[in-house]
Amino acid sequence: MQIAERMGRLGTETAFDVLARAGALQAAGRSIINLGIGQPDFRTPDHIVEAGRKALADGHHGYTPANGIPALREAVVADIATYRRCKVDPDAIVVVPGGKVTMFFAALMFGEPGAEILYPNPGFPIYESAIKFSGATPVPIPLYEETGFSFDAEEVLAKITPRTRLVMLNSPANPTGGVVPRETFDRLAEGLEAHPHVAIMSDEIYSRLLYEGREHVTMLDYPALRDRVIVLDGWSKTYAMTGWRIGYGVWPESLAAHATRLAINCNSCVNAPTQHAALAALTGPQDSVETMRRTFDERRKLIVPALNRIEGVTCVDSAGAFYAMPNITGTGLDARTMQDGLLEEAGVAAIAGTSFGAYGEGYLRLSYAASTEEIEESIARIERWLKERAAAAA
Ligand code: PLP
Repeated sequence: MQIAERMGRLGTETAFDVLARAGALQAAGRSIINLGIGQPDFRTPDHIVEAGRKALADGHHGYTPANGIPALREAVVADIATYRRCKVDPDAIVVVPGGKVTMFFAALMFGEPGAEILYPNPGFPIYESAIKFSGATPVPIPLYEETGFSFDAEEVLAKITPRTRLVMLNSPANPTGGVVPRETFDRLAEGLEAHPHVAIMSDEIYSRLLYEGREHVTMLDYPALRDRVIVLDGWSKTYAMTGWRIGYGVWPESLAAHATRLAINCNSCVNAPTQHAALAALTGPQDSVETMRRTFDERRKLIVPALNRIEGVTCVDSAGAFYAMPNITGTGLDARTMQDGLLEEAGVAAIAGTSFGAYGEGYLRLSYAASTEEIEESIARIERWLKERAAAAA
């Protein structure tokens, strides 16, 4: 057999490897606290589950329109009007099996050999993977701890060349928990006006998970760019629906048909009961979203100061999503050594910053989508493990 060369360019998400290893260790009787995986530790709210169950009972078993059932696309439009105060057309919405699919479609649509695509680093690992798979050259946008893991708008603009096709952005961000300030987005948007050949894909999947009074800035809010902005969002993080597999893209008018055609070629549609559940999520009560957000906020207030109390570790405040990104350079360990040591010896699953790109060296990602007891115990284990290592080296 000879598989295509492009398969060698496809990356992965280390979080799934760590999850598998943590599972194997647990099966062997070890106590492992999992701060590795990025998903809410809540059940999908009951009324959403019930809507999915009802859809099955009511006979919603067939194909739906490839871009999603009209009622769901209308509900997305209403949601965008409420939470982003932007007007979009239902035909701009393409419902897909998870947030990830929109980024993959965007990479396939714009990427090819000779093209360049900018993406945040450290960032969600699938950005770089999908760009490489498309044949395009990935151009990292460094994120800086000193600015709460924001990017420097001038630096991004300076990286744009005639070959640049697409800029990927993500705020609130995985893995850093960073939230890019409005002034930075404003400056970037203003500069992008001079580069009409460049499209923008803004991954806003954590838009409802913000703390410290931070506001969500959407790229839909820049009228001069609207005809080349793709917004990625979905239900996974906001409604604890990671396993249902549903997300959506807001596409410019000129691209929605292309995205729908990719969906027709790839997945036909999202399964019908999940679409009905997603509709209930958007149109039903939103109190569970706020309850989850408040709970994450309490855990954030626990984990960030606790990390800062560990010798050799510092951690900037996480303003969004549910991740803390401690700087571990003071421990003298590189990220991968610490990831492996914590998992194998301390019983804590965390992800090396380097799993999110080269600029993640010197950092770990800890998900605080875990109980306060688990967070407290994992901090104690990390501290103990570091002390034991230091004592053994002395
Ligand atoms: N975008 C970011 C930044 C994420 O962190 C994730 C999941 O971890 C996704 C997209 C993908 O979400 P989904 O599970 O809906 O595909």
